[in-house]
Amino acid sequence: MMRLPPFRYRAPRTVRDAALWLGESPAETMIVAGGTDALPNMKRRQQEPRTIIGLRAIEELRRIVPGAGSAGGGAESGAGHRIGAGVTLTTLVRDEPLRAAAPGLWQAAVQVATPHLRNMGTIGGNLCLDTRCTYYDQSYEWRKAIDFCMKKDGRTCWVATSSPRCLAVSSTDTAPMLQALGARVRLVSAAGERELDVADLYQNDGMHYVTRRPDEILTEVVLPDQTGWRSTYWKLRRRGSFDFPVAAVAAAAQFDGDGRVLAARLVVGAVASRPLAAIKAETLLVGEALTDERIAAAAQAAYEVAKPMDNTDFDLVWRKKMVTALAEHALRELRGDDVRAARVRLARQVI
Ligand SMILES: Cc1cc2nc3c(=O)[nH]c(=O)nc-3n(C[C@H](O)[C@H](O)[C@H](O)COP(=O)(O)OP(=O)(O)OC[C@H]3O[C@@H](n4cnc5c(N)ncnc54)[C@H](O)[C@@H]3O)c2cc1C
Ligand code: SF4
Repeated sequence: MMRLPPFRYRAPRTVRDAALWLGESPAETMIVAGGTDALPNMKRRQQEPRTIIGLRAIEELRRIVPGAGSAGGGAESGAGHRIGAGVTLTTLVRDEPLRAAAPGLWQAAVQVATPHLRNMGTIGGNLCLDTRCTYYDQSYEWRKAIDFCMKKDGRTCWVATSSPRCLAVSSTDTAPMLQALGARVRLVSAAGERELDVADLYQNDGMHYVTRRPDEILTEVVLPDQTGWRSTYWKLRRRGSFDFPVAAVAAAAQFDGDGRVLAARLVVGAVASRPLAAIKAETLLVGEALTDERIAAAAQAAYEVAKPMDNTDFDLVWRKKMVTALAEHALRELRGDDVRAARVRLARQVI
C-alpha cells in the first residue's frame, strides 16, 4: 500500500489567511483543494510538500455567483458568472443557469473522472491539475527503476532524451473549455491580486505548466457573458465511463441572425503541456456560415496544431488524426446538427 509522506496540515477559513500562510514558505507548501490529484501524487512522491494548506474550510471559495464582468466585480457588473475555485465539479454540473449559459463547460466538467471524484474535485484543482506522462505517473519504485526523469528526481526526459524540457501532457478537461469561453482567473497572494486570461495561465512546459506563482492561490474563475455564444467539448479517452483526456477539442462560437460566425475560439486539449488555441481554424470560421467545407478546413487547421508525444494512452499518430474528427463534430454541434450518435461512437472509439 502506498502511504502519504508526513506533512503539516493547515486549514485556513479565509483566503487572506491562506495567502499569508502560503507566503511564509511557498516553495515547501502545497495547496490542496479536493485532493483527488494532489494526494495520489504525494503517495507516489511526485510532490513532497512539508506543509499542506487545505482550502475546504474557506466558504468564500465555494460560491457560484451570477454576474461577472471583471474578476472581483459584483453581481451587477455583467451577465456572466463568477465561480469560486473551491466549487466542486458536482456543484458546477448541477448549476442549471450555468449549464444553460455555457453548455461546453458542463460537458467538460461532467466528463472529469467519476461522480465520487467530482464530489471532491474542484474547478480550481482541475485548472491547476498536474501534467501527466507514462514515465511519471508511476509509483516511486517504478520511477526509481528507470532512474526517474527530469520532471521529478531525475535528469533525462525518457519521451525525448534530447529534449531540454518536460513534455508531460496537460490533462485537464475544463482548461481548454474555459479558454475557449474566454474566461479569466483571479490569483491572490499576500502581496496583492491579479487577474489573467485562462489562456495566459498556461505555458507549454510539462514542469512549469502554470504561470501561477508559488505564493498565489487561484480564487475565482470569471466567465464572461455568453449571450449569443454556443459552446461544446469533445473528448477522446479509452474508457467512456471515466478516463483522462488524451485528445480534446473545446469550441465556442458567436453567430449572427443568418448563421454566420461572428467570433470563434477552438482550443485543442491533451496534445501538449498546455491547451493550444487553433488560431488559423478560428480565422477560417469568422464571417462564414458553418458549411461542411468550412468545417473540414477548420478541423484540418486544428489537426495541424496538435503535437502529441508518445507519453500517454493510444498511438500518437491516431490521437493526432482524432483531433480532426473531434473538431468536425464539435463544429457540427455548434451548427445545430444532431450529434448524439457520434458521441456514442466516440465513447467506443469507432468514430
Ligand atoms: C481515477 C482518476 C481519474 C481522473 N480523471 C480525470 C479526468 O478525466 N479529467 C480531469 O481533468 N481530471 C481527472 N482527474 C484528476 C482530478 O480528479 C480532477 O482534475 C480534479 O478536478 C482535481 O481537483 P482537486 O480539487 O481534487 O485538486 P487537488 O488534487 O486538490 O489539486 C490539484 C492541483 O491543483 C493545485 N490547486 C488546487 N486548488 C488550487 C487553487 N485554488 N489555487 C492554486 N492551486 C490549486 C494543487 O496544489 C495541486 O497541484 C482524475 C483523477 C483520478 C484519481
Ligand atoms: S515528458 Fe519526459 S520529463 Fe516529462 S514526465 Fe515524461 S519522461 Fe519525465
